[in-house]
Amino acid sequence: MESNHLTSPAHNQIMRTTTEQLQQIDVGGNCRFLALAQDSADIYWLLTPNGDFKADAALKWAQFIGPRHNEPIGEHKQGWIASVHSTDQTRVHDTFIQTIKCDQTTEIECRMLRYDDLYRLLRLRFVPVHHLNGSIHEVIAYGMDITEQTQSQYMNEEQMHLAISAAKIGMWEWNTITNRLTITDQCKALHGFALDETISYEQLLGAVYPADLEARDQAMQEALEAKTEYCVNYRTLWPDSSVHWLTVRGCWFYDEAGYPIRMIATVLDITPLKQAETQQRQTAKRLADILGSISDALFNIDNEWRYTYANAQAEKLLGKNLNELLGQRMGDVTPDFADIFITRRFRQAQSTGQTSHFEVFSFPTKRWFEIHAYPTSEGLSVYYQDITERKSTDKALRESELKFRRIVESNIIGVLIVDISGNIYEANDAYLSLIGYTLEEIANQRLRWTTMIPKDMRQRQAQAIEEFLSTGVSQPFETEIESKEGKRIPVMIGIAQLQNSSTLGIAIVLDISAHKEMEQQKDFFMSMAGHELRTPLTIIKGTLQMIQRRMRRMPAPPEYPDIQEIHRKNADDISQALRQIDIQTRLVNDLLDVSRLATDKLKLTVQHFDLIKLVVETVEGLRLTAPLRSMTLQLPETENIFVDADIDQIRQVINNYITNALKYAPFDSPICIGLDENGKQARVWVQDQGPGLTTEAQRQIWRRFYQVKGIEVQSDARKGLGIGLYICQTIIHQHHGEVGVTSALDKGSTFWFTLPLSPKK
Ligand code: ADP
Repeated sequence: MESNHLTSPAHNQIMRTTTEQLQQIDVGGNCRFLALAQDSADIYWLLTPNGDFKADAALKWAQFIGPRHNEPIGEHKQGWIASVHSTDQTRVHDTFIQTIKCDQTTEIECRMLRYDDLYRLLRLRFVPVHHLNGSIHEVIAYGMDITEQTQSQYMNEEQMHLAISAAKIGMWEWNTITNRLTITDQCKALHGFALDETISYEQLLGAVYPADLEARDQAMQEALEAKTEYCVNYRTLWPDSSVHWLTVRGCWFYDEAGYPIRMIATVLDITPLKQAETQQRQTAKRLADILGSISDALFNIDNEWRYTYANAQAEKLLGKNLNELLGQRMGDVTPDFADIFITRRFRQAQSTGQTSHFEVFSFPTKRWFEIHAYPTSEGLSVYYQDITERKSTDKALRESELKFRRIVESNIIGVLIVDISGNIYEANDAYLSLIGYTLEEIANQRLRWTTMIPKDMRQRQAQAIEEFLSTGVSQPFETEIESKEGKRIPVMIGIAQLQNSSTLGIAIVLDISAHKEMEQQKDFFMSMAGHELRTPLTIIKGTLQMIQRRMRRMPAPPEYPDIQEIHRKNADDISQALRQIDIQTRLVNDLLDVSRLATDKLKLTVQHFDLIKLVVETVEGLRLTAPLRSMTLQLPETENIFVDADIDQIRQVINNYITNALKYAPFDSPICIGLDENGKQARVWVQDQGPGLTTEAQRQIWRRFYQVKGIEVQSDARKGLGIGLYICQTIIHQHHGEVGVTSALDKGSTFWFTLPLSPKK
């Protein structure tokens, strides 16, 4: 017990009691009273008016407290209060002060520690004993043990402690008169104080989070004035700078004059609760954000169908902002939802308590909506989406799917779903009857569309797959497939990706046997006709040349100028006729070439020769026919480039490329012819500054009889049949080389071909 406990004004007044006054006590009367009191009390002791323990008449005290607790006798005269339970000490002390101050008997229930170390609940009385002059001489303290009586009503000390510590409730009591703070360990822990620290009320205040001090003070002030309990939540700042939320509930105690003398409070840590609250707030905010950002429109209506919420998307679709919607009836402000069909579905969802999903066409806005209505305790939660676009795409998709199905089922052409590894996933009857296999056979024998194409034609197939992978589509290409019976069927195949960047594709296979047969017949006819045409041409040419020779041998006599004139005219006409026959013969030869190519009769006479030499000779030869044109040569540093090929045919290709350049490029533009090699193959190219070709034209010009519209030959040149490049391509392919052109419209063209280098050195 600290010595400043008895420092209230009342106490000071008591201290002023004089010794003379004390000596005037009626001792005899007191003795009788003391004997009575001692006998009936469970504990009994005497105190001076200033609270000091009086050693006389301490027998009952010693019996109750036991020998260990006799320390109040001697130096620590006010130490008797240490035997009172710590949480009751302030009250006991205050009651004692009140006894002195009011000069009357007071009573209090408190716990005191008995000799057997058990706290007993006592009804304690302080009775002032007076001097004859009326001043207080001493105070009798006597108590009755009422533990047993109250046990049934109250929890015992231990239980109370257990309950309080289990509930983690802290407690403090502040005596405003003595400014003494009694604080439980739990309360210290809740404020972050060390348990062995003695805490003052000021320290307790200092632990309050500065920003919360005002609210705390206000709550306590209000409770003080209204004489009610207070309950306030505030944060405490722990020495380790961590922040903890406390809820503090308490009340004031007043003296008879209404002056506050004590305040007690219970303290509970609500940090987890606050954290949960914050989390809940964050979750609610997140939820609101999510609802606001989802692409579905969402609104809530109450049971009277008034708007209670709408997210951003709903505001957009409904064409009204939240403020215009809130509290308004759905049908009044949003005509889309006044629709009888919708309202019926909503009512149904509400009455059955079951979710309703439906699609509806809104006549006011001419739009399709997909609606999900969820019944809630407050009304309905409605999610909806504008699906007008999807509806029209769906319809378009259904229609195009139908059209596609019709094509597949009509079996006009073979249609199959394939992948680039060759697997066949689906095939229609047209394809199956073409190849002679059933779908089961394809599956069981793991047949691949890629291996159905004969080996010698797989190079073109590889190109098609490459094109498919890079562009998503492979242009139709001619090839052959081998049927179950081993028959080679000419077909046209085109593949398109099923979906973007997929290796799955849809392949169209067109049987072109009939067309091929017709072409063969045509080629056969052409070859026949060519021969038939060539024979009379040769005869006519021979006859004309004979006449020419005869006329040269027999010139017209100079004396007959008329005959001379006729002679000269005849000679001119014959030369002209011979030139026409040459043109005709060349055309017939071209035709024969084509038919020979088509019927594979183009036989190669392979020889080892120097390609550089051939290019130079060919260019020189052409210089004679077109002496006015500029032709430059760009030759490699190597002396020779040897190839094994049919020299005449390769000459024909070079000739054709250069002749085309001369034919299609402007007369005054230069033509550059070059060649190089890369160790594996030689490459010859002819570059002109002519009209150039579109990408489409670059692909098409290699076909027979194809001529680009709009590209005209220069005035002095003769129009061809559109078969030159086709022949070039066939010749080069037969030599295992490649042909190609790089060109752009108005930027000229570079035609090139490659040939494998000769292995011989
Ligand atoms: P032809 O020249 O007899 O018409 P080709 O097969 O040699 O037949 O050429 C096919 C077509 O390609 C030509 O008609 C022409 O339209 C185009 N072509 C060929 N070479 C060139 C070129 N150097 N520049 C522009 N177009 C060309």
